[in-house]
Amino acid sequence: MNVQQIVLASRPKGVPQLTDFKFKHVSIPALKQEEVLLKPVYFSVDPYLRGRMNDEKSYIHAFQINKPIESNALARVIESKSGNFVPGDLVMGMLPWSEKCVVSDKGLQKVDALQEHVSYFLSVWGMTGLTAYIGLMHICKPLAGETVVVSGAAGAVGLVAGQIAKIMGCRVVGITGSDEKVKLLVNTYGFDEAINYKTTTYMSNAIGTVCTDGVDIYFDNVGGDISDAVINNLNSQARIAICGQISLYNSTAVPVGPRLQQTLLTKSATMRGFLVNNFKSEFPDAMECLTKWVYEGKLKFTETTFEGFEQLPSTFLGLFNGDNTGKMIVKI
Ligand code: NDP
Repeated sequence: MNVQQIVLASRPKGVPQLTDFKFKHVSIPALKQEEVLLKPVYFSVDPYLRGRMNDEKSYIHAFQINKPIESNALARVIESKSGNFVPGDLVMGMLPWSEKCVVSDKGLQKVDALQEHVSYFLSVWGMTGLTAYIGLMHICKPLAGETVVVSGAAGAVGLVAGQIAKIMGCRVVGITGSDEKVKLLVNTYGFDEAINYKTTTYMSNAIGTVCTDGVDIYFDNVGGDISDAVINNLNSQARIAICGQISLYNSTAVPVGPRLQQTLLTKSATMRGFLVNNFKSEFPDAMECLTKWVYEGKLKFTETTFEGFEQLPSTFLGLFNGDNTGKMIVKI
């Protein structure tokens, strides 16, 4: 069977371009025992894929030139030689950007196809929701009444992190990239304040103005100048979760910024990076809360969905332009 795949054509220098991707026709092999033939239904596109386009050692292996990009996806089982899945099942797993694929049944997880929002398993009930929960609850440990600042606040992780902080009784300030997103954060998602970093000249002052009692918790999705400005406003005993650094993912030089040790020392502050997959034992409790909060209407969520296999590269690039509110997804 001949199918189209999207492969890495070249390693980006700086901001990735459409020319870094290539469409390729390949024939897919016949099924072997414990394999399934899948047809993807939804692909997640995520900022961390940018790191995998570089040829460097990291916590997850780099994409190879001329080999397919892969990302988390929901897919329908078409044929099965697996004892675990039958045709018609909906499964989730890390899949190649391919119109159809044959993969091992290991690492695939069955998903309840009758759920009203199946795509939520790629977002609020999947990796990004879990990231928000773990980062906030296990790294930042919020207390009612504290002030929490979330950067990348209108994105997949930020939207959930900010709302969980509200559920915990905190005052929440979001930082985002447009006036429309500022309005959404406050009017729809219950943030107390939001700041448009693209139209604010002095971010440190702006944060100080809305965080009159200082910043107790910073959930950092973006890094760079925005984070420097938040850290200027820390309170004593503040906690910072380093979740992501999207403003630096396309850097071509080693980023230079303020040295933070003295601030962390004098504020007795804690700054901790985390990778969600190192907290797998916490996933069941986290999923229970995320599911409950969504059904109770305490946690609202949205997705930005583009349609069509060929949209995968441009949709991924849109993450770096702020094209999404909530989770960026491609429906196939
Ligand atoms: P988002 O849905 O937040 O999408 C990216 C958003 O980042 C864009 O919409 C844009 O919004 C903002 N952005 C893009 N470029 C910049 C920039 N230069 N400066 C400031 N903001 C920018 O992505 P996710 O929610 O999936 O991920 C958020 C962060 O969390 C990422 O850094 C990601 O790598 C990280 N992550 C970490 C995990 C972990 O285990 N630690 C797991 C999952 C994600 P805007 O309009 O506001 O600019």
